[in-house]
This record gives sequence, structure tokens and C-alpha cells, in this order.
Amino acid sequence: MSNSKSKRFRFAPSPTGYLHIGGARTCLFSWLYAQKIGAEFILRIEDTDLERSKKEYLDEILESIKWLGMDWDEIFYQSKRFDIYHSYAEKLISEGKACKKEGAVFFKYDFERVEINDLVRGKIVFTELPKDEEVIIKSDGSPTYNFSCVIDDALMGISCVIRGEDHISNTPKQILMYEALKLSIPEFAHVPLILSASGGRMSKRYGATSLREYKQMGYFSEAITNYLLLLGWSPGNNREIISLGEAQDIFDIKNVNKTGAVFSLDKLNWINGEYIRSKSINELTRIIKAYLEQRSCLPQDVDMSYLEKICRLFQERISKLSDLVDWTRFCFYDDFKYGEGTEKILSNDLSKEISFLSERLREIDNFDKEQIENKFRKAAGDLDLKLRVLVHPTRVALTGRKDGPGLFETMELLGKEKVLKRLNRLIQHWLSQA
Ligand code: GLU
Repeated sequence: MSNSKSKRFRFAPSPTGYLHIGGARTCLFSWLYAQKIGAEFILRIEDTDLERSKKEYLDEILESIKWLGMDWDEIFYQSKRFDIYHSYAEKLISEGKACKKEGAVFFKYDFERVEINDLVRGKIVFTELPKDEEVIIKSDGSPTYNFSCVIDDALMGISCVIRGEDHISNTPKQILMYEALKLSIPEFAHVPLILSASGGRMSKRYGATSLREYKQMGYFSEAITNYLLLLGWSPGNNREIISLGEAQDIFDIKNVNKTGAVFSLDKLNWINGEYIRSKSINELTRIIKAYLEQRSCLPQDVDMSYLEKICRLFQERISKLSDLVDWTRFCFYDDFKYGEGTEKILSNDLSKEISFLSERLREIDNFDKEQIENKFRKAAGDLDLKLRVLVHPTRVALTGRKDGPGLFETMELLGKEKVLKRLNRLIQHWLSQA
């Protein structure tokens, strides 16, 4: 264990579901620590449950790990290693430590007390086990988790098992199996679970739990890894924005918190927003184009310089790319409806005033935000109205929404022709209601 190259870490997902946000963090901690000390990192696919394991899940797990910026030195599939598990089970049977009953193999625990020195939690002592025997090979020939996990961690030379704290109760059983099999016992580091705001395990009830969903919502991989890092670890000095590269130098599994970390979507949104704001307009435009295109939210042949302007308008305001799907519809299409919460604004018929404003705006030659603002203020003054009395219905007319980016910038973006057309549409709406 003295030479880092001989140290090996692993992440052992079961492909029975998409990569959970908690699994992603466990993987991240294990991978990061391996990078930090120059050790090897192994993926072990725990696909022993042949019914529930699906290729679709496996593909997604591997893709998500890569998307987050991690990689692996070797990959193993437990489904291809049944012979190995069987031979170890036979060995236990021949030594009288296991027995066959109704086609399954049972391991008999020889238990008094087990103690581990967990790298995260310190000393943990186990003084009782719920059962005195346990199935290690099921009657269909597949191994159970505890058994295949022990054999593989030993044969794959894993120096420290980094995994979720939900596996603490399995650890004494596994240690008894290592001892029975005369295999060397690795170190353990059990990282606390990610909790939902209500204190329980993060579950679907409280929002998205799979990494895939966050990816689809347009969170950046760097923002997710950054946030996952902060869930249970801190780079110190109140720092909150940290890249994977930097974290590699300073991360230490021993500094991971013992207590569960509460998942906060607000915090993730803030971090993601920081990454959005740190992008150059060029890069962000490309990203946004791809994102909206993929969701069929862009008309064909959309002009890049127009997209760039949209990007400037929204960069400060969004926390994730999916915000743009609804927010930017008005930028590309004229046929939007007046949306939620606009009823109150629309109930006040200002057709005369908006017509007046419209005529003033028509006079502008160079339709930029300064000129627009000047004319707008002037029109409000002439009508003896507070600015906002005109601002609210104008925004609804132009965007279909009651809130959004700066109105004058929005008007500049749309251009005079569209602005006048949309103001007229609202006037017609009022007239038809009258
Ligand atoms: N396949 C197990 C899980 O996903 C792995 C547990 C372990 O790391 O030992 O929970």
C-alpha cells in the first residue's frame, strides 16, 4: 500500500437504474482521490441481477460518468465472472463454512465482534448481526451482492472501498467473508448520503434524482461536479467555485464530512448560473443553439448574430439552459399566447395610450435601446402616466410574459417592425374585447 501505483479504487454501480445523483458523487469522490494520489480507478459493473440489469441503464451510467469528466483504467462486469464466485463458494463448502440448501449456497457467519477504522467515520464497532447465515449463491446460480463484492474487491486489489454509507451495515458481513476466504481486507470510507430538504433520502418525490434529468435540464457538467463536491467536502476558505482539476490537487477522502449533506436545488442553480455567466458569449451561444435545436425550439436558419444578442440578454438571468425554452419563445415566434399572470395587466384597456406610444416609436430611425428608452419616457410623460403603466402591457405585448429581461433591450433585439406589429396585436386584442 506504500506505492500509489499499486493502490486501486473503484466505483461499483448496478445497472438497474440510471445513475443516481448520490452514486455520481460517490464515483466522484473515489475517482478524485485516485487522481489525487496517482492510483488506478476501476469501474465494476454489478450486473448480477440478470433480470433487472438493463443495457440502457449501463450505457447511460458510462456516458454520465464520462460526461462529468471522469474516466477509468479498467472495467469489469460481474455477470462474466460467475465461475469465479462459484469456485470460491465451493471452497467455502469444502471447508465447512458454507452449505448448499435447496440449490442455494448459504454462508455461516462466525461472528463475535467486528471493528473497522473507517476513513470518513472513524472507528465503527459491530456487536451483532441480524442473521447467522446468508445466501451467497442463489438457486439460479447468481451470486449475492455481499459475496461477489468481497471476492472482487479482493481480486481486483482494491485498496480502499469508497461507497455510500447505506452500505455500512453490509461491512461486518463482508469482513467475515474476507476472513473465511482468507482474502486481504481493504480499507473502507463510507461517505454520507445526500439528503432531501426534508431530511430523508433523496427520492423522486422531491425532484430529479438521476444525473440524466439534470443533464436534460441543461445543467453544465462542471457545475454538477462542483456542486457534488461541496456536498460533504469543502475546499476551504469559503470557496464554492472549484474545478475538477483544482479539486484533484487538494481533495482528501479523510476530510469528507461524517454527516449527511442536504441537497439544495437553489444552490445548484446558483452554481450553474455562475458557470453560465463565466462563459464567453461565443461559447454560450453555441451551447444554447445546440440545446434549443435539440428540443426543436429554434426555427430553421436562425441567424447567429441574433442568437448572440439573445444570449447577452439572458446570460445574467438564467440558472439553467432549460429556462430558455419558455423564456425565449417570443424571440423566434410571433404566435405566442399571453401567458400566465398577464390577465390582470391586460384587464386594463390602454389601447389609446399604447397606440400613442406606438406612433412615437415609429419615429425612431436607429432603433437602439437608448433611443427607445428616450421615446418611451417621453411618451409616458406626454400621457401623464407612470413609466411602469406602459412598461407592463408593452412587455406582455412583446413577449407574452409578465416578467423578463430589460424591456428596452428586448425591444432593440426584436427590432422596430416586430415591436410595432406586436403592439398592434395587443391593441386589436383590447378592441375585440370591448
Ligand atoms: N452495486 C452496489 C451499489 O450500487 C455497490 C456497493 C459498493 O460499492 O460496495 O450500491
